[in-house]
Amino acid sequence: MRILIVGSGGREHALAWKLSQSPLVDKLYIAPGNGGTAALGENIPIHDDDLPGLTTFAKDNAIDMVVIGPELPLVLGLKEALAHSGIPCFGPNAFAAQLEGSKAFAKTVMRESGVPTAPFRVFDDAKDARLHIAERSMPCVVKADGLAAGKGVVVCSSREEALEAIDEMMVKQVFGKAGERVVIEDALRGEEASFLAFCDGKTIVCMPSSQDHKAVGEGDTGPNTGGMGAYSPAPILPPEDYEMMTDLVIRPIVRHMAAKDNPFVGVLYAGIMFTENGPQVLEYNVRFGDPECQPLLTRLDSDLAEIMTACIEGRLHEIDIRWKAETAICVVMAADGYPRSYPKGMEISGFAEAETVEGVTVFQAGTRPEDGRILASGGRVLGVTALGADLAQAQKRAYEGIEKIHFDKSYFRRDIGDKGLRRMK
Ligand code: ATP
Repeated sequence: MRILIVGSGGREHALAWKLSQSPLVDKLYIAPGNGGTAALGENIPIHDDDLPGLTTFAKDNAIDMVVIGPELPLVLGLKEALAHSGIPCFGPNAFAAQLEGSKAFAKTVMRESGVPTAPFRVFDDAKDARLHIAERSMPCVVKADGLAAGKGVVVCSSREEALEAIDEMMVKQVFGKAGERVVIEDALRGEEASFLAFCDGKTIVCMPSSQDHKAVGEGDTGPNTGGMGAYSPAPILPPEDYEMMTDLVIRPIVRHMAAKDNPFVGVLYAGIMFTENGPQVLEYNVRFGDPECQPLLTRLDSDLAEIMTACIEGRLHEIDIRWKAETAICVVMAADGYPRSYPKGMEISGFAEAETVEGVTVFQAGTRPEDGRILASGGRVLGVTALGADLAQAQKRAYEGIEKIHFDKSYFRRDIGDKGLRRMK
């Protein structure tokens, strides 16, 4: 099988790493890829939003399956573009991808299908949004409807903050078209976890729970990032609750999409907050999370190419998906300054040494190969991932791995996994 993976992050390195282990896979291409994927297949310099470029490449190179890592190409309709040329694709179509591409769409689908979520209203007019703020209680959350790279959500404790967020999004249009419409919802309190599932349009197979760390600073302080680390399983969502959670937050959405003649094929990701009134869905993503993908695929004991093919062909019920009983953790090494401005071009060393630590795999994210060296080229540079008998052992191994890696101006959180350890105590 010839596979094209679209994307360039740690998630795509993990996808390439796992797919390269499959006896079904003959050749891997990654567009545009990174320093890590270059060692597992061929990097192709086509960006993830270049739909004609990706489609032409897939056609010309007899690609059997395209695996789409990030949300943007899914929302733009890459699946449909590929389908015109008869190329199968792992990921939902543009209609179903609105679950991530439009918060108003996702919230409406949740309401219609009975998924627990914060009460909300949708506004297309800044004046109406301001009136609503004057009338409602605080705190609240103001969300830009469209994709805003994780920056389009403002949790507001006062009316002033909420009015400012509305002004930024709807009047100053700092997120462009993504902020023309906003969702305003109640602020929830609780701990967050991620729950992902493979879907073939009808059959659902959930993955073990996981937990991301979005804030840049230790103790969940500072601005939000793409994610500074993740582990699986998340003690807050134990295996005995997976079936209940699938019925609560995944099955209603898959049924809804099937009823709309847009069956959901791919990975459906529910971001859940565990509140005192039970679990509430904050958001859906329509692909693997980054960095949740790294610990999840490290734990996956089955053939990913086989699972993805079965999803595309509507045969997921035939597949037995097994997971390692161990815990996996991924600690992100970033360039200091991320998520704001950060340096690039630093040489990275110590990959092989880090992987001498038992259970450790280093996934690359913002890196590029140059003359046999690996250079930092993005904010999140690496994801040092470790398996261990339990969370404490996995955490110890990941940080031992990190000690062996060097690049100037590196930054990482030292408390990834601590929340889970506290809960287990
Ligand atoms: P990303 O794409 O980075 O995952 P996003 O832009 O799609 O994020 P959400 O996931 O909806 O946005 O929200 C981002 C974060 O904001 C959540 O992880 C959560 O911490 C916080 N948040 C969102 N909705 C609420 C809410 N109703 N109450 C409290 N916090 C919230």
